[in-house]
Amino acid sequence: MSEFRQNIATGEWVIIAPERRKRPDDYDRDKLCGATTVDAEHSDSCPFCRGNESMCKPSLYEIQDGTGWSLRVIPNIFAAVNTHADPGRTREGIHLKAGGYGIADVLIESPLHNADISTMPLSQIEEIIKAYRFRYNEISLDPAINIVNVFRNHGPSAGASLQHPHSQIIGCMVAPPHVTDQIEYAKRAYNTWGNCVYCRALDDELAQGLRIVQETFHFVAYCPFASKSPYEVRIFPRRHCSVFGSINAEEEFDLALILKQVLQRLRALLGDPDYNFYIRSSTTCDGQVQYYHWYLTIVPRTSHYAGFELGTGIFINTSSPEVCAEELRSVKIQALPPGLTPRI
Ligand SMILES: [Zn+2]
Ligand SMILES: [Zn+2]
Repeated sequence: MSEFRQNIATGEWVIIAPERRKRPDDYDRDKLCGATTVDAEHSDSCPFCRGNESMCKPSLYEIQDGTGWSLRVIPNIFAAVNTHADPGRTREGIHLKAGGYGIADVLIESPLHNADISTMPLSQIEEIIKAYRFRYNEISLDPAINIVNVFRNHGPSAGASLQHPHSQIIGCMVAPPHVTDQIEYAKRAYNTWGNCVYCRALDDELAQGLRIVQETFHFVAYCPFASKSPYEVRIFPRRHCSVFGSINAEEEFDLALILKQVLQRLRALLGDPDYNFYIRSSTTCDGQVQYYHWYLTIVPRTSHYAGFELGTGIFINTSSPEVCAEELRSVKIQALPPGLTPRI
């Protein structure tokens, strides 16, 4: 069983989860970037392929397309957290620990083993966003959960262990200090200026236009002024809202659209880079507030963090966000079908 352990000097929590070493792995970790990917629509050994459902637990959420499931959400059997653990805090000597309580979902995005979110039909990506919202809201109802993290790992250097396209949704009982500090900083900014610091930053980005990558009716994608790494892109909703689970149907469509287009730009410019994306939202105990604003961050794995970053927490970004944004804006991507042109 996994467990949370707290660093007594910093308040940071880690999860000790030796069981995760048993999870299946498509990638050869002995060779750097040694991906053993399968360029076929089906793999007999893949637990996420259609026909191999018995290798996993039953669906928590599923979409059918007439020939079978087209998307499904299942419990992660190799999760670092689970609902059987006791979230109560206990002492071990001078240290604090707790059972590894949490909810860990895997969202299988397509029955096709070799599909990629950047080239999927827009309607499929919209279904992925709807599933994110549905499970985000369900997991948020658990009173022991304080943060729900929606994320996607693409490629071995981004931490993906299976090639089959999938995302994860993990509800965790503790919000880490770097998240709560960020929310507290935004709260102080609200108390000082009387408005949301993220709305102000978005207005400033739109006024300058220097770092904008893509716009749609409801979202703006840009390379942040203080990007930590090259080609980092954040997608912000124009509507002030601190809870991702409050996204409405029009915004779901629009988020699918801008996400597909930004991922296509990254793929065209960098050649299918490994990347992570994650959604940052307010903690479930804070909920809907005026001072925080949810967003999605995409981090291509173009650089490695080294001793300076680990030692100081200060990232050295070797590319200018303004140049990255210009390159991403300029790249040619697939035209949208008629009627799906972004409404800007
Ligand atoms: Zn598969
Ligand atoms: Zn805002």
